[in-house]
Amino acid sequence: MDADYNLIVRRLSEAGQKTETGLYIHYPFCRQKCSYCHFSSSVYERELHLKWLAAIKEEIRRAASFFSDYLIIDTVYFGGGTPSLLTPDEVKCLLDSVQENFEVRLQEATIEVNPAAEAGRIGDWLQAGINRLSVGAQSFDPAVLRVLGRAYEPEKIFRLLEEARKAGADNTGLDLMVGVPGESLRTVEVNLRALAELLPEHVSVYLLEELEKVPFQKVWERSPVSEETAAETYEKYRLSLEEAGWFQYEIANFSRPGYHCRHNLKYWKYRPFLGLGPSASSHLANFRWTNPPGLEDWWSALGSGKPGFNEFLELSPEEEVRECLASGLRLREGISLEELASRFPGVDLSGYEIKLTRLKDYGLLQFSDGMVRIPPERFLVSNSIISELLY
Ligand code: SF4
Repeated sequence: MDADYNLIVRRLSEAGQKTETGLYIHYPFCRQKCSYCHFSSSVYERELHLKWLAAIKEEIRRAASFFSDYLIIDTVYFGGGTPSLLTPDEVKCLLDSVQENFEVRLQEATIEVNPAAEAGRIGDWLQAGINRLSVGAQSFDPAVLRVLGRAYEPEKIFRLLEEARKAGADNTGLDLMVGVPGESLRTVEVNLRALAELLPEHVSVYLLEELEKVPFQKVWERSPVSEETAAETYEKYRLSLEEAGWFQYEIANFSRPGYHCRHNLKYWKYRPFLGLGPSASSHLANFRWTNPPGLEDWWSALGSGKPGFNEFLELSPEEEVRECLASGLRLREGISLEELASRFPGVDLSGYEIKLTRLKDYGLLQFSDGMVRIPPERFLVSNSIISELLY
């Protein structure tokens, strides 16, 4: 599989300059496995944690041995799993390892934080180099937290955010979940009140989905939330958050001015990112690949000295244009056709232009300032709009 890395290196070297790239580090353990979760994670064990730590450092070194001449790391994102199980010293050690192995001009270093995390660690994480917290609150309604099986009370989220402020955190995001059985209009009010009190710089509103093959499916079957109800709830958040000053910059993401997530923007703007750890995805040059999702497979691939990709794709310029359109239209600002044409000069965009104009005539797209975008009130049907464009 080294041949695949060499293939990527060859393509990167053709660019003739280093590229700003996001680095994602997947931490694959949680205190307990949530029944609705489809992420690659298993229950924390100290021994496994230490084994992961040694392996991820090896993967950083290994990836750098191929790519460091071509990349400048400008964002780092610790996702999971529950990366807040990492001690500040461990986070520092990993950030140091990134600095030692790559050219780094860090604009943003995020860690996902479980509300049950030790609030006392926050100041030390900031000292370690973290400058953005992403707190997986999910809800401030105790009934909803119980349905989701989250092991904390809403007060814990408040305390965590208060501690974060005291420690100097000035870029904090809160994630909320929509479409949970048992959620009511009161849930929305409780959540909006909590946001108004805590004033996080960033808010994400995710739909509970992809429940096939996870234990929560049974709960869902007993009390499903209709698409209309989930859509109404999402719309309520969308309008209320905007009214309260959080600008919707992506279908599920809202921020105060200047506080969008720089790392996640790389996915939507189709910019390069390197993912390390089990199940992590990467996109460099015109290649996309995913690491093995299981710990054992990931470890054995690393141990064998070969990446052992779960999926490895070399994309044609036409495929890249499709992906670029699909991800860019998730953004409020939309996508520039001029930029698309200059990034992929060999691709004939005329077929898309015809379809885009037709969708605009149906009121499903807007064109202005050289950008084409989905109007925010149509975000709920964005999947259908994007499918109509691409298929
Ligand atoms: S804490 Fe997050 S990553 Fe871990 S099992 Fe629960 S939802 Fe999944």
